[in-house]
Amino acid sequence: MPELPEVETVRQTLKLKILNQTISDVIIRYPNIVKYDELEFKNSVINQTLEDIKRKGKYIIFVLDQFVMVMHLRMEGKFFIKTTEPYDKHEHIIFKFKSGLELRYHDVRKFGTIHLLPKDGYEQLYPLSVVGKEPKDLDQNEFYKKIHLSKRPIKAVLLDQHIISGLGNIYVDETLFLAKIHPERLAYKITKNEADLLVESAKQVLDKAIKLGGTTIRSYTSSLGVHGRFQNELNVHTRQGLPCPVCGMKIIKIRVAGRGSYVCTRCQN
Ligand SMILES: [Zn+2]
Repeated sequence: MPELPEVETVRQTLKLKILNQTISDVIIRYPNIVKYDELEFKNSVINQTLEDIKRKGKYIIFVLDQFVMVMHLRMEGKFFIKTTEPYDKHEHIIFKFKSGLELRYHDVRKFGTIHLLPKDGYEQLYPLSVVGKEPKDLDQNEFYKKIHLSKRPIKAVLLDQHIISGLGNIYVDETLFLAKIHPERLAYKITKNEADLLVESAKQVLDKAIKLGGTTIRSYTSSLGVHGRFQNELNVHTRQGLPCPVCGMKIIKIRVAGRGSYVCTRCQN
């Protein structure tokens, strides 16, 4: 599943490749992905020019002249830029540009979504309205206020996109390792200092992952020829049985909040 750094990498790559392109046609081969009337969607976006590509949380925002298209890749969504090649069976939405280029949305699981919103005030509209703040925009006091009464394990809280957006399983494990906090600690037992450290650690982890183009492991390989390199920098995630890079103790894998979680039990309390 693409996480925030992977989505950011996709956004940056798309921006380099298709900014200022004008849409000449849209072919919708699997309508359920489009959360809008199919014909109206087509009529709205044809002849619109791609002014900008932004991101909020894991949503990619295509800013057109009068509308924005908000896309979520979910489990397996990816983009390809092609011209006249035959359609792959997993290419469900094809945006044709006047230049001859095509942006193809490819999704084996078909869980991805596209919303069409008016350009004015789109950030206040669903689905963007319910996305929590990313670590870089999150005020430390606000974060502490949100977590300090919670009886859930801290890992579950960090995975909750309404509280903090952008941390998936990989980056939560890495954040907790940097902050030296065990994933099963109950959130209300986290001190203010530790909460501050968590926000700082999350920022550091995401910044570094974005710089390295995200993480390429298991199920998700980014499209557009981009391979993330953050997997080489992982301290604990997927490293069970290997020595902790700080203390040398073996990293273990446990289950927390329903997710496989990697921990150094000596460093993380
Ligand atoms: Zn350790």
